[in-house]
Amino acid sequence: MIRKLLIFILSGILFCANVVNAEEIVKINNVNFDNSDSVIFIGTSAGASSSLEIQKGKLSNPDRIFLDIKNAVYTQNKSNFILKNSLIKEFKIGQFSTNPNIVRIVIYYDPSFKPEDLKVLKHNNNIFLKINNETPKQDYMTSIYDELKDSNSKVDATLSINADSINKMQETQTAVKLPIEPPEDDIFNEINKAFNETTSQIYLETNAAKVGANFTPSQSVRGNNEPFKEYKLRSKYYVDKINIKNGNILISGVGIVNVKRFIYLANPNRIVIDLPDTIVAQNIRNSELKISETEKVKIGQFEPTTARIVITTDSYEKYRPIYSFDLQGLLIANDERMDNIKLSNNSADITRIKVIPLNSITDNVLINFSDKIVHSIKRDSNKLELNLYNASAFDVIAFKNAFKSTSLETSRMEKLPYQGIKITIPIKPSSTVDCYENINATQLKITIKTPKPIEHKSKAQPQAIVPANISGMIVILDPGHGGADTGALRAGQAEKDITLDIAKKTASILINKGIHVEMTRWNDSTVTLQDRVEFANLKNPAVYVSIHINSSVKPEINGIETHYYRESGYEVAKVLHKSIMANIDSVNRGLFKSKFYVINHTEAPSVLLELGFLSNDKERNELLTEERKNKSAQAIADGIINYLKTQPKR
Ligand code: ZN
Repeated sequence: MIRKLLIFILSGILFCANVVNAEEIVKINNVNFDNSDSVIFIGTSAGASSSLEIQKGKLSNPDRIFLDIKNAVYTQNKSNFILKNSLIKEFKIGQFSTNPNIVRIVIYYDPSFKPEDLKVLKHNNNIFLKINNETPKQDYMTSIYDELKDSNSKVDATLSINADSINKMQETQTAVKLPIEPPEDDIFNEINKAFNETTSQIYLETNAAKVGANFTPSQSVRGNNEPFKEYKLRSKYYVDKINIKNGNILISGVGIVNVKRFIYLANPNRIVIDLPDTIVAQNIRNSELKISETEKVKIGQFEPTTARIVITTDSYEKYRPIYSFDLQGLLIANDERMDNIKLSNNSADITRIKVIPLNSITDNVLINFSDKIVHSIKRDSNKLELNLYNASAFDVIAFKNAFKSTSLETSRMEKLPYQGIKITIPIKPSSTVDCYENINATQLKITIKTPKPIEHKSKAQPQAIVPANISGMIVILDPGHGGADTGALRAGQAEKDITLDIAKKTASILINKGIHVEMTRWNDSTVTLQDRVEFANLKNPAVYVSIHINSSVKPEINGIETHYYRESGYEVAKVLHKSIMANIDSVNRGLFKSKFYVINHTEAPSVLLELGFLSNDKERNELLTEERKNKSAQAIADGIINYLKTQPKR
């Protein structure tokens, strides 16, 4: 199914030389590339009715490819772009001649790159250069399934722009306002816009000489002292088609698709699937498609760079995401409608499976294939299912040996009903899973993190590190937000991730001191306020601490607040606030009596901490550091212990 459709899609965008209307000059406005460096986007002013003529050639000494865009004017100054993750090292774009008008792109590449692996694609008269790196030289793995959000786990790809082109961006900003602006319904206008928004942010950040949290992780110096700055480009997938085929949902577009963990919601029963770093074409946003008599699907732009798919269905457990080879297509397939669907023409042998325990909580599973693999990843609370649709059988003994003596030992392999292999890996509800695929779809890497279970410390264990009265007391930590609820969002950073990090660190300090800790969530899951309160009231804790990060429309505001509502929370609020202010160098905004849901409805002494402002650039940057998170966690843990010490034994 995917294969057929992809052929259909590709035939629609494959470049072919067309007769050009001599009177029309095409403006080349915008050049960009995605964060895997495998797609270069060249935005043009050409309308849908006009056509582009591109000539491709090769030069040597040094070896380079040139592409001449006929009858075109490059509206910016000559630019150089350096790629980091690709066999293409650099490309230049500029006006080659003015009579005739030719814009030339020159591409410099690694000796191991084959020029024929550069595909020139054309879509609505915008140009995509797609690099198929058949040589598995690069170890770049692109994230395709994402539950973890900590910076160590994610491959950070960057976009490099030289200082000169940053200056040019101001001109681009004005140029956009000229009447050559493409019509509203031009879907690629949105890509342009998205990239322009990114560049305008870059410009603003640079202009204000500020370091934004999402930008400038490093600054390097290049060759002739020309300063280079690295910026993240946040959109790497552009969806412009959604179709229903035999009761399955096919999403396709340009770039690289990445899927978040499915979220299941009730009333009505539905699956929510988020695609991070994704832009949805305006013309398919919010249109509803019927999957079957009782099921429907909708896609929308949930956040500036997150697409959201909502499937209304009663059989939510039957759906899983199947990735196409090139990661440009996603089939959200229903297991029961998979017969008669052929996903690929090739068969891929599993050549190796390797399980690498990274540390006591993290395992990496690496699977290599002899050819491109079509797969799906589905995570349930207790297992991870990896369907390899075009894989041939792998030696059962070799499989067992790979997992032997690891925490994933009970993993198993079986045949899929029609063709292919299913690998089932046992995980815990608290586990987080991330998957990566290499650029030529012959290797998958699955990272599984399972936090240590919180056990009631038995009486036999020494508990002298905390006063005797504390043993047996339960502390509930409530990391604010989670899952679909991101909390505050600034510069690509979500409150929910910071609150979880701090809560986990706090938990581990307290647990190490022999204190019984419960968390309302251990991972990036959606938990309602009602559920948090219900959970707390069930556990009868000595204290309930909700952890949040603040935000304001006024970016200059920063500092720390502690909230309580009921009288029983006042004392713990005072002690915690004091401990936090003693350890963190930020503005003391004081104690507040606030009727927040979780601190109003929990029976235990409860507080809600606002540990800084995400909306303040300086504080956001600090909040993202391990140092600030560790300090916050230590201060909260110390405060909790100090408070518990004053409480009568329960
Ligand atoms: Zn919050």
